[in-house]
Amino acid sequence: MKYDLHMHTHYSKCGNLKPELLLKIAKKRGLDGIAVTDHNTIKGALEVKKLNKNKKFEVIVGEEISTNVGEVLAYYLKKQVKKGDFFSVVDEVKKQGALASLSHPFRTSLNPNHRFKLPIEKIKNRVDAMEVFNARNLPGNNEMSQRTAKKLNLAGTAGSDAHFSFEIAKAYTIFDGNLRQAIKKNETKFKGTIIFGPFGGLLSFLRNRFL
Ligand SMILES: [Zn+2]
Ligand SMILES: [Zn+2]
Repeated sequence: MKYDLHMHTHYSKCGNLKPELLLKIAKKRGLDGIAVTDHNTIKGALEVKKLNKNKKFEVIVGEEISTNVGEVLAYYLKKQVKKGDFFSVVDEVKKQGALASLSHPFRTSLNPNHRFKLPIEKIKNRVDAMEVFNARNLPGNNEMSQRTAKKLNLAGTAGSDAHFSFEIAKAYTIFDGNLRQAIKKNETKFKGTIIFGPFGGLLSFLRNRFL
């Protein structure tokens, strides 16, 4: 299975993707499933899920939640999770029976909130996985995350962090069978490229600034 586990719709201010278009392109690019992970809202994810009529294609309701120490990706949410303190956020995700992955924990960018600020070895039992490939990361960021995940025996997730159509499926998670189980057993793999990332990042920066 190939799932892009990090995608944004226009419900994220930094992106412009209409739910219909996101779903159409994700299918066209050969994915078997996606997680829609808008910033602090599940509205886009619910819309995409509703639009999907193909039972063989899975749409996971996700969210990229802001916390005081960095961002958390949540998968299989039933309700929106409010941004806030890291520990209350991951507790709420767990309470819903959903999964938590640390979003681009080693990203170097102009936004200091993008880098995770607690030592991961201290909180690794509070999350199910960490993002080991994000197509918007800079060179070295993903490798650092992969080394850390390996060292700590944490499962990896991967995704494009697409905010625009050209970014969709530029990175994805690979696994056999069921995603939840693959993460629990630490059996996920990934594939991706970061060459389109800087263009996407710049477009998001401009949207945040000027729109
Ligand atoms: Zn964004
Ligand atoms: Zn994101």
